[in-house]
Amino acid sequence: MGDTFVTHPLTYRFLLDEDVKGLLPLFPPKRVKTTADLDLPTNASDAAIVKAAWRRGFTIVTANTRDFNREVEAFLTTGPKRRCRCLWGLVLLPSGTIQRQLLKRLRNLERRLQLDGKSVTWRDVQANHYRVTVYGDRSVKVSKLPRCAYHRKKDLEDET
Ligand SMILES: [Zn+2]
Repeated sequence: MGDTFVTHPLTYRFLLDEDVKGLLPLFPPKRVKTTADLDLPTNASDAAIVKAAWRRGFTIVTANTRDFNREVEAFLTTGPKRRCRCLWGLVLLPSGTIQRQLLKRLRNLERRLQLDGKSVTWRDVQANHYRVTVYGDRSVKVSKLPRCAYHRKKDLEDET
């Protein structure tokens, strides 16, 4: 399996978790991969999916909110000390048919992304390590993903 390590992705792309792979046709073909495209087995662990997305610089899309929030935190705080493991964005969708309505117009959803009063693009979500949480009532929240252990330590050192 191709294990290309991405230090800074040139463009944004989404990796669809197994539970949302049916949404594939709603994404521009060049912007999206499924876990099968990355040669991950259908029973791949959440941890394996997080790692695969990180290696390739993909933004993870899933409806498995609780498990992925937990897995992301675990991923960011483990691993080699001197190596960045910051993730390239996480999109958490509500479950059910509302997913299709939300993503039918990917641009419309993008236009609703804001952080601290500023517009956020999908590119920002990836490059700036953001988490987009979409709720069942269609409200959207953008927040910063925690940085990796390496960067947390570095930020502390830079402050002193
Ligand atoms: Zn980092």
